Amino acid sequence: QDLVRHHLSNIEKKSHLNAFLSVFPEEALERASLIDQKIKNGTAGKLAGLVVGIKDVLAYTGHPLQASSKILNGFISQFNATAVQRLLDADAIIIGRQNCDEFAMGSSNESSAFGPVLNDADNTRVPGGSSGGSAVAVQADLCQISLGSDTGGSVRQPAAFCGLVGLKPTYSRISRYGLIAYGSSFDCIGIFAKCVEDVAVVLEVIAGADDEDSTVSRLPVPQYAEELSRTLSKSYKVAYVREIDDAEGLQPEIRDAIQRKLDHIKNAGHSVDVIDFPLQEYVLPTYYILATAEASSNLSRYDGVRYGYRSPQTTDLQSLYKKSRSEGFGKEVQKRILLGTFVLSASYYDAYYTKAQKVRRLIREKTKDILKQYDFIVMPITPTTAFKIGTHTDNPLEMYLADLFSVQANVAGVPAIAVPCGEDKLGLPIGLQVIADDFQESKLLHFSDALT
Ligand code: GLN
Repeated sequence: QDLVRHHLSNIEKKSHLNAFLSVFPEEALERASLIDQKIKNGTAGKLAGLVVGIKDVLAYTGHPLQASSKILNGFISQFNATAVQRLLDADAIIIGRQNCDEFAMGSSNESSAFGPVLNDADNTRVPGGSSGGSAVAVQADLCQISLGSDTGGSVRQPAAFCGLVGLKPTYSRISRYGLIAYGSSFDCIGIFAKCVEDVAVVLEVIAGADDEDSTVSRLPVPQYAEELSRTLSKSYKVAYVREIDDAEGLQPEIRDAIQRKLDHIKNAGHSVDVIDFPLQEYVLPTYYILATAEASSNLSRYDGVRYGYRSPQTTDLQSLYKKSRSEGFGKEVQKRILLGTFVLSASYYDAYYTKAQKVRRLIREKTKDILKQYDFIVMPITPTTAFKIGTHTDNPLEMYLADLFSVQANVAGVPAIAVPCGEDKLGLPIGLQVIADDFQESKLLHFSDALT
């Protein structure tokens, strides 16, 4: 209960950060008192008393759920997302619902219908996105762990901007049941924490088979936390992609910080090879074509009829759809629905959608080839450190470039983690990204733990 009170008081003190859309004080305190009892009786679950915040894309029974969008005004979850249910079953305490970019579309948390989230390291800067509220909540000690979602970097990129550890597991490792869909073939639930060990414990609780999601893997879930303490290997083979150094707009301090880390990795007895990844320039366009295509289809269900916002100005069914969607969705979401509808339209389907699917397969194959020869690929997560609020709002291309390094893991479906890797000259955190092969989370966590 003390822990919950501590976080509740921090949430109040730091309300200007706008990290939470709702807080559940009575409920959290009540659960805490039950769990205090269980701890005394020796019957408490693995996450007893862990104070968790959830991004506003995860269903939690009886609580509002709206993907930071006006179109879901008034919507209340009827069931728990599987990940949420497993947290609760392990006696974690959910303290609130966290702000994010609308429908998880964005890289700065500026597209929320409820206003931007501020970075606690510098309130004039963005926390990254789309899981910005979830990142800031851990950064500012408003909760211990957050669950976010990572479709193209939304956990790793804000983790980097806020100096945290952020994991995107293998696609299908964690059930997506109860996660609001953005790009279903990319979407992963991810975990924010201050250290790798916390990520490991939460992952082993929420990962694994689920009858509610036919795409989730049935592979057994390792005891990730326990495996952290095992010596898996003394000498890993690490790959660094040559094309990264020439990438557009890469901040020199990030390049230097990564180079220093690579030296450190070599000195620790691992090998580092510089390799070619000629497909690098196609990763971002492939992601944005496919993610917007999937989003346009996923978001067609918000029609003003079934749930959420309905425009009061309607005269017939057509105008009900049009007005509810035009008034309910924000600009970024509308733009992506249009883009996605365009690439899926009969005349352009083959030129864009089919081609992007083919390129995606090539990117996955090439990434997997590298990961057959190497244990990890190491690269930056973001080309820059946290930028000022408003910097890219008028230039979507610039904003999309913030995802240059994060989308590869989603396009290929492999797991990737962000870990802190020093600061720039303004004292803003720099993140390092480590990518591993499918279902190699144990190894990934083990290696990244040694790096921090
Ligand atoms: N920034 C990327 C996008 O806007 C990734 C978002 C995400 O991972 N949810 O699509």
